[in-house]
Amino acid sequence: MTNTLPVAPWRLFAVEIRAVRRLSPSFVRVTFTGPDLDRFADNGYDQRIKLALPLPGERGVYLPQGPDWYAQWRALPEHRRNPIRTYTARAVRPHLHELDVDLVLHGDGGPASRWAQQVRPGDEIAIAGPDAGYEGDHGGREFRPPSTGCLLLAGDETAVPAISGICERLPLDARGRVLLEIPVAADVLPLVAPPGVEVTWLPRDGGQYGDRLIGAVADAARELLAATQPGEVGVPVAGLDPAAGQPIEDVDVDRAILWEVPDTPPSAPLYAWLAGEAGVIRTLRRHLVTDCALNRRTVAFMGYWRHNHPDPTP
Ligand SMILES: Cc1cc2nc3c(=O)[nH]c(=O)nc-3n(C[C@H](O)[C@H](O)[C@H](O)COP(=O)(O)OP(=O)(O)OC[C@H]3O[C@@H](n4cnc5c(N)ncnc54)[C@H](O)[C@@H]3O)c2cc1C
Repeated sequence: MTNTLPVAPWRLFAVEIRAVRRLSPSFVRVTFTGPDLDRFADNGYDQRIKLALPLPGERGVYLPQGPDWYAQWRALPEHRRNPIRTYTARAVRPHLHELDVDLVLHGDGGPASRWAQQVRPGDEIAIAGPDAGYEGDHGGREFRPPSTGCLLLAGDETAVPAISGICERLPLDARGRVLLEIPVAADVLPLVAPPGVEVTWLPRDGGQYGDRLIGAVADAARELLAATQPGEVGVPVAGLDPAAGQPIEDVDVDRAILWEVPDTPPSAPLYAWLAGEAGVIRTLRRHLVTDCALNRRTVAFMGYWRHNHPDPTP
């Protein structure tokens, strides 16, 4: 009699770095390989994953094994706990046992960025990601637009991998705007999108986070809504939120994670997906819901990182 354990949605993958490619001043692409990567589910879109990184002064990672590895990892003393950070699976090639992750280089301030600056082929880490052997929804994909309406995808450099992955899998007749704020013009990367989706790169060039994105999102939302709605933008009309214009609760981004993703957004003229620095994303969401009267259940917003705060993963 065989005793097979049920397959869990996620699992740990032991991986080795196959290649490191500097894409631009701020992006490095790390290609991982590993014996089990043929089981890494190729879900596309904004599939998130977790990288377990080396402790200071070490090269590999030593994670507890088994289905409760995360609980065991949390119980470890801090000096033995490999830092874990969240990234996006940029490309998966199960037949080649390969996975690409694009990491933003933002200096020595965090374990992931520090690691990305010095990573070399042959280095080993561990990745938690979706197991193709599991047949249900793995979780970790947040792009769930309704089947009708325009799209507004906006984010900073940390959202470039997710937005690129989303755009690659949009139907050919998708319509909308993509707005990407990046550190400098040389960080513009190749991005494949359907013809009806206009992509705009917004180099910050030393400006503050959100300097370019906030105004651009406001303009794009106004234009997209004007093109699809017969009303004056800012005045609640059919398809927009009947509670629009009412104050929305503010999230203290220094204490709570900024994250709200409607499960089944209703049909609406516009679906927005926003990700990046939490304070900027909070401003964008407020603008879309309060000023543009967008139905809040059609705005997915995710604080991917917080300025001056390390990732709170324990
Ligand atoms: C679902 C999801 C998907 C993500 N996908 C990607 C991805 O594909 N590629 C990617 O590069 N990032 C991605 N991120 C963001 C990434 O997880 C954070 O930037 C993370 O904080 C980086 O870890 P770190 O160890 O470098 O810095 P931390 O230890 O977390 O932070 C140290 C310091 O660096 C600052 N910092 C962190 N990130 C940045 C940044 N990008 N620019 C400037 N300062 C920063 C913090 O404010 C803090 O002061 C994603 C986040 C989420 C939640």
